[in-house]
Amino acid sequence: MEQPESRNPDQKVVVIGAGPAGLTAAYELTKYNIRPLVYEKLDKVGGIARTEYCDGFYFDMGGHRFFTKSTEVNRMWHEILDDDFLLRPRLSRIYYDRKFFDYPLKPFNALRGLGIWQSTLVGLSYLRWQIFPSPREDTFEQWVTNRFGKRLFNLFFKSYTEKVWGIPTSELSSEWAAQRIKGLSLKTAVLNMFIQPRETITTLIEEFHYPRRGPGMLWDEVKSRIELQDGEVHLNSDVKGIKWDGNRLKSVIVMRNGEEQIVEGHDFISSMPIKEFIARLDPPPPQAVLEAASQLFHRDFLTVCLMVDAEHLFDDNWIYVHDPDVIVGRIQNFKNWSPDMVPDPSMTSLGLEYFCNKGDELWSTTDGELIELGKREIDHVGLARSEDVVGGCVFRVEHTYPVYDSNYSQHLGIIRGFLENLENFQTIGRNGLHRYNNQDHAMLTGMLAVRNLVFGENNDLWSVNAEQEYLEEAIEGEVPYASEVIDETFARAFMKIDSVAFGISVGTVSGLMLFFVTLYVSLNQIEELFGYLYLLNEYFPGYDVNPVGSLLGLLYGFVFGFVIGWGIVSLRNLVVRIYISIIRRRAELKLLEKYGFFPDEQSSRSGDSDQQ
Ligand SMILES: Cc1cc2nc3c(=O)[nH]c(=O)nc-3n(C[C@H](O)[C@H](O)[C@H](O)COP(=O)(O)OP(=O)(O)OC[C@H]3O[C@@H](n4cnc5c(N)ncnc54)[C@H](O)[C@@H]3O)c2cc1C
Repeated sequence: MEQPESRNPDQKVVVIGAGPAGLTAAYELTKYNIRPLVYEKLDKVGGIARTEYCDGFYFDMGGHRFFTKSTEVNRMWHEILDDDFLLRPRLSRIYYDRKFFDYPLKPFNALRGLGIWQSTLVGLSYLRWQIFPSPREDTFEQWVTNRFGKRLFNLFFKSYTEKVWGIPTSELSSEWAAQRIKGLSLKTAVLNMFIQPRETITTLIEEFHYPRRGPGMLWDEVKSRIELQDGEVHLNSDVKGIKWDGNRLKSVIVMRNGEEQIVEGHDFISSMPIKEFIARLDPPPPQAVLEAASQLFHRDFLTVCLMVDAEHLFDDNWIYVHDPDVIVGRIQNFKNWSPDMVPDPSMTSLGLEYFCNKGDELWSTTDGELIELGKREIDHVGLARSEDVVGGCVFRVEHTYPVYDSNYSQHLGIIRGFLENLENFQTIGRNGLHRYNNQDHAMLTGMLAVRNLVFGENNDLWSVNAEQEYLEEAIEGEVPYASEVIDETFARAFMKIDSVAFGISVGTVSGLMLFFVTLYVSLNQIEELFGYLYLLNEYFPGYDVNPVGSLLGLLYGFVFGFVIGWGIVSLRNLVVRIYISIIRRRAELKLLEKYGFFPDEQSSRSGDSDQQ
């Protein structure tokens, strides 16, 4: 392990929050012989990724898949859990319109569930949005519609997303979609059916790791190891105030068992929601920063946990409930996550997730009523009989989803600008950065914060993004190439249409049309159309106007439509590309004339110019 330069052995680092980010930071600090003092307001560790316990059953607050591209995070999981880290198969489906659809969507399964007519409409709608995409992709609705078409968006994305966020998808920022379903489109979903993707798409992962008794098991063990190294993890300790002066934090005020305690530190790392951190600063920060923080919002959720007297209910780990007839958003089957989540193999435990806002009607409903609601809804969906439910409990979780509304990044920018001046403070984790980060990203921010502190590195924690890779973003203030700007403008104006996807769509529609027309004409014996249709036999050997011919027609129609669709779009893309390159060249020459030089890569990036 790398060793830091000489450090003060009495250095105290105050860590706020014992969720994945805070505990990871504390655990890393102990490796460099630095004593972390962790303060957690709840009575247990793990934060949103904690595991609750009730009558012998373990309940994960959500269902946390352990999957990461980060070797560091992976190493830590294995180091802590060892044999208790199970590899589990993933199965998840969508419940909609009284039917179950595979998730990730599989075309044949979706086709079967939707029926031929609805599928044709989905194909046509996809075509329409491929040809005339929305020029802007600011909202979730625009982003998804451009990739899947409006009809599929309405069927499979709209209602669930609105349940989760509690706001219309037309008001939700596209960043969430871009972060969560990046790399996935109708085309990739279709192609994945036939070929192994070169790069695994995040949402298509088929197996994942999981601790034997839920994620809380990991965080309990991390807490023990921190304490073994003389670190401190204080539960039931709410950080109520943060004292600062100039550009340094001085101390935190901790409320514990009704008593206030002032804890001083050399350095501070916080994973509490950034909104609350700002509000608790003493003295208060500038008004603009306070206002920006007050405009950041979260969504909360509650889990109704049901113990069911049934050995096996269904195979899925979880099911997304898109049906608007029920309020529940997602149903977890914890026994399928790990058999050790239940005390008795003849029982099953379910977690019904309800998305809400702290203090709203659902949140304030009594536990007893929520359990009754859960029993009714599980029965309605048909996954278990309410009379088989033998017990239940309810857990409410705050700050589960940082909301990406249309102004959040602007507010976050103001807060970030202020925090950058605090030299002994770093904010980490999902709510610390107000970023829809997974557990591994949260952990990574904790690890990088410690590297910044110990080695004086300059890792930008705000850049640990959803792709789970730490990206060195372009240096701020760097002048973009004129050609890049031009390319971007043209890319927006003339969106490239995907020729394969377009071919598949045209092929599907024409194949289905020929199939239906042939079948209809042959079954209804419409003599006057027989002759016309039979003419196709000239081009499609073996084709005839009878039921077998309709199947051949489906095949021929698909191939014919594919070639036509693919050909037209390839030609269109070629023409656009030539057109763009002519205009781009002209624009570049105009720019170069204007500034009197021809920039080369090195010089223009560093701001110099190469005089001709
Ligand atoms: C429904 C759901 C499903 C998820 N599924 C997955 C998944 O499958 N895989 C995955 O990798 N991730 C998943 N996540 C994300 C994962 O839970 C989070 O990324 C992770 O828990 C964030 O860790 P954190 O430490 O940043 O924040 P948190 O877990 O929120 O921890 C912050 C801690 O700070 C404490 N705190 C707050 N205020 C104070 C205060 N004033 N004083 C003291 N302590 C305070 C909180 O109590 C909390 O314990 C899921 C999240 C949700 C909501």
